[in-house]
Amino acid sequence: MPHTDENKSENPAIKMLPGFIASVRVRCGKSNCHCTRGNRHLAHYHVIYSGGLRFRRYVRHDQVGQVRDACQAHRDLQSQLREGRAEYKRMLASAREFDRIVRNE
Ligand SMILES: [Zn+2]
Repeated sequence: MPHTDENKSENPAIKMLPGFIASVRVRCGKSNCHCTRGNRHLAHYHVIYSGGLRFRRYVRHDQVGQVRDACQAHRDLQSQLREGRAEYKRMLASAREFDRIVRNE
């Protein structure tokens, strides 16, 4: 197994994560592996954009589904928050509109 430098103490029960899963073809570096002959491995990375920077972290195959779900959960929350903000702006706009109507009378 490559990638033995992973943090084993990391909590596997991730519920929500920003970012997304990126899947790339890689060579593992073992000279006797099939990937040296062009049949590369599919590696998954968790990618986050933060403050104009791009962070990438290797995700084990058995954790891909979990991380992908966590990213989806985060996206869902973000869109809910966006929807909440849009709703708030609509309320604010109609309140201002009401205020203007009241003042004009
Ligand atoms: Zn390989």
